Amino acid sequence: MVGKITVITGPMYSGKTTELLSFVEIYNIGRKKTIVFKPSIDNRYGIDTVSTHTGFQVKAHRITKASEILDYITEDIDAVFVDEIQFLDVQLVEIAKELVFKGIDVYCAGLDISYLENPFETTSKLLAIADEVIKKRAVCEKCGEHRATYSYKIVPDGGEIDVGGKDKYIAVCRECLKKLKG
Ligand SMILES: [Zn+2]
Repeated sequence: MVGKITVITGPMYSGKTTELLSFVEIYNIGRKKTIVFKPSIDNRYGIDTVSTHTGFQVKAHRITKASEILDYITEDIDAVFVDEIQFLDVQLVEIAKELVFKGIDVYCAGLDISYLENPFETTSKLLAIADEVIKKRAVCEKCGEHRATYSYKIVPDGGEIDVGGKDKYIAVCRECLKKLKG
């Protein structure tokens, strides 16, 4: 038996984590064994939680390198979930391939492009090998239409990897991005 690779992508505030966790819930209801990972952007290890807006919570293992995922893989795991993949190294691609050949399903969620509209390397490579891609949209902060595909930075440049929320980024559609860029 082999597994499959699903990638959930899109801009900030498009509900990627919620979608990822909805799949965790499906596996859990089916009494399948799951394990969730998220990058440790502050180099802290241990267990963290990931939650949806509706309050569904799961425990997530913080990792600093994609290869650490393999340390947690046991015979009985049916599916592996990784959130915020844009912050993980590209070795995640090789690990995902290895896991599916072991019969494990792999679900990854993360940003597709940076606020400079450059594709994130890990996400784009996973998109290329995915069996299924779920491309999410957010509500545009400017026009209110559910068609935002860009994460626009509203503060001075702090680099392409600059963690933040609504204080730093808004989701906008292409039409509004064009206006913002003048
Ligand atoms: Zn718009």
